Amino acid sequence: MIKVVISGALGKMGQESCRAVLNTADMMLVGALDTKCVGRKLGEVLGIENVNVVINNNLKDVLQESAPDVMVDFTNPNVVFDNVKTAIACGVRPVVGTTGLSEDQIRELKVMAAKKQLGGLIAPNFAIGALLMIKFSAMAARYFPDVEIIEMHHDQKIDAPSGTALRTAEVLADVRGDMKQGCSEEYEKIDGVRGGNFKGMRIHSVRLPGYVAHQEVIFGGVGQTLVIRHDAISRKAFMPGLLMGIRKVMNINEMVYGLENLIF
Ligand code: NAP
Repeated sequence: MIKVVISGALGKMGQESCRAVLNTADMMLVGALDTKCVGRKLGEVLGIENVNVVINNNLKDVLQESAPDVMVDFTNPNVVFDNVKTAIACGVRPVVGTTGLSEDQIRELKVMAAKKQLGGLIAPNFAIGALLMIKFSAMAARYFPDVEIIEMHHDQKIDAPSGTALRTAEVLADVRGDMKQGCSEEYEKIDGVRGGNFKGMRIHSVRLPGYVAHQEVIFGGVGQTLVIRHDAISRKAFMPGLLMGIRKVMNINEMVYGLENLIF
């Protein structure tokens, strides 16, 4: 039985994760953290019977008292780094869905986990379809180096571009290199209208109500375009990958970045 604590348990992803872990036979939810409803029973707040885990806001206390195997983090970019450091210090394997960690922070967390020989996962995207989108995009970039990314998310998302868009761009850059594309005399009549520039690729972030998490990778070639698109239309899309990640970190002794590096 894998004992799991969920940080950000009352957020959109956290609630879905609590339900997924509670419905999984080889996992046990032993702790739930959030800033809201502290002291109340998680089951009461989520409307699930017989769930007596009490919501807490002190991660260290919860990790020490409930001795979990894994801490899942779906909080926000401002707190995730400290949460993961606390988990590693307590010998708890982090499975991190929160996006917004910098390259330096990821490097530091990998070093910390390596010193403790502790398994962990930082996964900008748990949706298997999105991971396949990235894999297929890397294949396409060998033949179509001119590419732009459009990602679309709900309007409460605070970081841009999305972790998935950034990960896609990194993988594409490994294939096509740092390459200027488009017209050399191009200029913007409105600042930022051509999107963010990552190694010559443009990334555009759309934020609107109604979206969950969507992305198009658009390749342009002579006389043709190719679009690879993924749509997560429900947060349930992330759960099979999250559960796989939780199981996988039990059998590794390093911090891995990207679920694709554990499952493909
Ligand atoms: P959300 O609805 O805002 O949920 C975050 C929750 O964490 C909120 O309830 C928040 O409380 C709580 N929180 C804030 N600080 C905390 C702390 N110190 N300790 C414990 N809980 C804390 O956000 P979301 O939509 O669930 O997304 C969460 C993160 O997951 C984002 O970074 C998002 O980009 C990422 N995400 C990743 C994937 C993936 O597949 N990897 C998929 C979707 C989303 P307050 O409201 O009081 O701040």
